[in-house]
Amino acid sequence: MNIAQRISEKGTPFYSFEFFPPRDPEQWPAFYATAEKLMALDPLFASVTYGAGGSRQTATLDIVTGLKKRFNLETMAHLTCVGATRDQIKSFLSELRDNGVNNVLALRGDLPQDQTIDWDKAEFRHAADLVRFTRDTFPDMGIGVAGYPAPHPESPSFSSDWRYTVAKIREGADFVITQLFFDVREYFNFVDRLNDMGVSVPVIPGILPVQSLESIRRTLSLCGANIPGKLYLELEAAHDRGGSAAVKEAGIAYAVRQIRTLLDNGAPGIHIYTLNNASTCQRIIEEVGQLRA
Ligand SMILES: Cc1cc2nc3c(=O)[nH]c(=O)nc-3n(C[C@H](O)[C@H](O)[C@H](O)COP(=O)(O)OP(=O)(O)OC[C@H]3O[C@@H](n4cnc5c(N)ncnc54)[C@H](O)[C@@H]3O)c2cc1C
Repeated sequence: MNIAQRISEKGTPFYSFEFFPPRDPEQWPAFYATAEKLMALDPLFASVTYGAGGSRQTATLDIVTGLKKRFNLETMAHLTCVGATRDQIKSFLSELRDNGVNNVLALRGDLPQDQTIDWDKAEFRHAADLVRFTRDTFPDMGIGVAGYPAPHPESPSFSSDWRYTVAKIREGADFVITQLFFDVREYFNFVDRLNDMGVSVPVIPGILPVQSLESIRRTLSLCGANIPGKLYLELEAAHDRGGSAAVKEAGIAYAVRQIRTLLDNGAPGIHIYTLNNASTCQRIIEEVGQLRA
């Protein structure tokens, strides 16, 4: 079933989880054991990231299908279009459909650092092109797109980023999943701006629990999200006090506060970047407590 339909049928709030496909099939049994623990938390859907390179794309297909079949769960494959041909995209989408996966997160993908793109020959330039192509090819497919509470790093302004997000929805996307953020005001501002521009599809906040100082430094350097100075100082102080275990605890406590504020103020649900780690997500969801009064 299409995820947007599921949101309107099952109601809000909900949790959903993002996984990445383990590179090596030998790691798959351990991965499915992790996923099984998270299924006990009754997610509305799970999504599986998509990497550059052929074998990693096949892994996305295998894992998104595996999750669907093992757990009878609604699943969504991430899909990037930069450098891809229409035939390649159509074949990936067809394989998804043949395996009962009816949702895709339509992304442009990061521009490759090691090669230049011949934009005159490119069959897809922006995520909006992939949304249009998917909607035309499989009209009933569920389509999500990425949204950026702090603008995408390539965007010259907040307003251009909002405009292009709206363009993706006008091309046929049913919902938005946001980039990670730590200041909930960025999320609510983003949603307000989209609403002002006439868009009312669900905007699902993406939450990344901080696992360590190194991992958060690496993530922030790649994705262009902001970290409030106060949080960063809190994490550093935790590190000085108790090393990486204390940073992880501080990260969990912060994620719990973020989720409560988001849900109390009308976010439809929470998409957790699990990093394939069950125990952190279990702790967070337990500490947030009941989703409905
Ligand atoms: C929830 C989420 C999941 C992700 N999963 C993955 C994944 O699995 N694999 C992966 O490789 N990457 C993933 N990414 C990262 C994503 O691929 C990058 O952020 C990428 O750089 C942009 O993709 P996009 O779909 O947002 O692109 P777009 O929506 O095309 O936007 C990219 C930039 O171009 C601008 N733009 C858009 N349309 C136009 C236009 N018509 N004219 C001029 N400028 C325009 C936008 O404002 C933005 O600055 C994910 C990101 C998020 C938020």
